[in-house]
Amino acid sequence: MKYSFKIASIWGIPIELHITFILLMALVLGLSGLYFFTLTMFLFVFVVAHELSHSMVARHFNIRVRKIVLYPIGGVSEIEEIPENPRIEWRVAIAGPLASFGIGGILLALGEIVPIKTGAAISLITTGSLLFDLGTLNIILGAFNLIPAFPMDGGRVFRALLAERMKFSDATKYAAFIGRLLGIFMAFFGIFYNIWLVMIGVFIYIGASEEAEQTIVSTTLARVRVKDVMNPEVASVGPETSLAEALETMLKARYHDALVQKDGVFQGVVTWDEITKIKPELRAQRRIEQLPTKKISVFPDESILEAYKLMAREKVDLIPVVYREEPNKVAGVVTSEGVANAYEKAKALR
Ligand code: ZN
Repeated sequence: MKYSFKIASIWGIPIELHITFILLMALVLGLSGLYFFTLTMFLFVFVVAHELSHSMVARHFNIRVRKIVLYPIGGVSEIEEIPENPRIEWRVAIAGPLASFGIGGILLALGEIVPIKTGAAISLITTGSLLFDLGTLNIILGAFNLIPAFPMDGGRVFRALLAERMKFSDATKYAAFIGRLLGIFMAFFGIFYNIWLVMIGVFIYIGASEEAEQTIVSTTLARVRVKDVMNPEVASVGPETSLAEALETMLKARYHDALVQKDGVFQGVVTWDEITKIKPELRAQRRIEQLPTKKISVFPDESILEAYKLMAREKVDLIPVVYREEPNKVAGVVTSEGVANAYEKAKALR
């Protein structure tokens, strides 16, 4: 199920809105009125600016940004490679809060020069003066993100500082631990003081846990080469093979998808889903070449992390390994089972 929707694309980076953001908008409009709704709409633009500044610095270091997802309490830039280089990581992380402080400062100054009084009620953080309030919100956005706990930017800066003194995976563990602790703390106090605090606490707790798990998986898998995990014995089917026969071959080889070769030349992968979409009684007549083929593969010297990412992106369970010099020749296969085994082994060695 998809929980976020693409709304725009800036510099080739898709910007997605998470469904909780839309719920927040509706909630704010219903509960707090038009002025706060306007503030939230503007805040959304500033969160995008905050995230784009992360992306700009990431790109400067040649790191691809896959997409930006906007959540009610901030955005998340999904970065292709997690920079395991602390010097790069803290620079990418600090760019967002600095942008928010910069925008905040300018708006506060503008608010002094051109006070736009809206007549809206004064609250804990708002004065009713539009530019001034937007300035304050940006400062809060910057400061909130500087909290030294995952998944906030401050957590990344904190991890980078730790990673100069210890292993990257250990630094991640500590930063995530503090994040979880903070999440529990906020949620607990929120019960007595403010319901929003409970939501933010839960968000931080989940974010910190996910980030830690993701980083540990990535750094572990990045250390293992495809050639150390692949099975050199390949069970393949031909384009003319019937689906019934292909399923039999797959079952025997314990493959979830079919690897297609024609006279020793690699053709691609036909997924389990595509094959089983065809009714059982038709599978004896239909042939593999009648189904869509995914042309995906990895090289033996690549990290197993690449195979893992490909499996996730293409929703397959099997990645053919081909020779770098001869990309039409299959050297072996990597299955998700192989990746899981490699992960367990690499984790034990750490
Ligand atoms: Zn940020």
